[in-house]
Amino acid sequence: MTVKEYVKARKEEIKAYVSNLELKPHFVVIQVNEDAGSNAYVKGKLKDSDELGIKADLIKLPLDTSEEELLSLIDKLNNDSSIDGFIVQMPLPKQINEEKVKLAVSPLKDVDGFHPLSPLNPCTPQGIINYLHSENIEMCGANALVIGRSNIVGKPMAKLLLKENCNVTIVHSKTKFEDMARYIANADIIVIAIGRQAFLDNKYTYKDSAVIIDVGISRDETGLHGDALPNLPVKLQTPVPGGVGLLTRLALMENLIKIYNKNHQ
Ligand code: NAP
Repeated sequence: MTVKEYVKARKEEIKAYVSNLELKPHFVVIQVNEDAGSNAYVKGKLKDSDELGIKADLIKLPLDTSEEELLSLIDKLNNDSSIDGFIVQMPLPKQINEEKVKLAVSPLKDVDGFHPLSPLNPCTPQGIINYLHSENIEMCGANALVIGRSNIVGKPMAKLLLKENCNVTIVHSKTKFEDMARYIANADIIVIAIGRQAFLDNKYTYKDSAVIIDVGISRDETGLHGDALPNLPVKLQTPVPGGVGLLTRLALMENLIKIYNKNHQ
């Protein structure tokens, strides 16, 4: 199944589930930026909620909002029992400390799964694992290579692959070319999240049975591009657009439903 087909099918299931709930899940997005990428992401999250029958509100704050003001709004939402979960769209203006904000969101309402005490996982890695399962990709004992080591993608991705019993290697910008080439040639599953257009191309060799999950997004005048050149000689490669972005959005909705169920059990 392509990512699009998988996401469509899962959304139908969630929609049917939500339609049977008397009290609809309530999701809130806080946005404190005018970033074009964020506007598109927020629009997508609100559209998904609407499509699934989830009540969703956007609280858009001015760019000069202080850290205290944002933390006080977060505190209010943490204590509002009519709200199941919420997210603070990143990036934030420079007067606001992003780490402080991530820690201020109650782990019980943290739909993004960013809080270290959150029982949920960050959406991008979780969405990828769910898709790999849906495609019956053998993870136990597989050589998984994670390219990129950020706190929101690379590191949690490596942790989840390890939990699936993969042999996990993480590489980054300081990895030497010959090592990178060796790790890539040996990988059964490659997750790349670096934001460098077509970093994975034909200069590397791949196992023809390999799976490439392309997280990267670069924008230029011709549109969106992934970290991997399309149509590499592997078994499965997720496209950009129409790949991990959709999986991330789906995982966000799934996280919200998990929180709802916990609150209403
Ligand atoms: P980030 O915080 O900027 O981290 C980038 C990582 O890539 C760093 O670990 C960096 O290594 C590594 N890197 C950079 N250049 C490299 C190179 N030439 N070779 C090897 N490693 C290199 O980025 P992020 O937040 O993880 O996001 C990564 C990409 O995924 C971005 O394009 C972002 O837009 C995209 N993304 C997409 C989704 C989605 O839903 N589709 C979600 C999140 C992110 P060092 O640590 O050594 O600097």
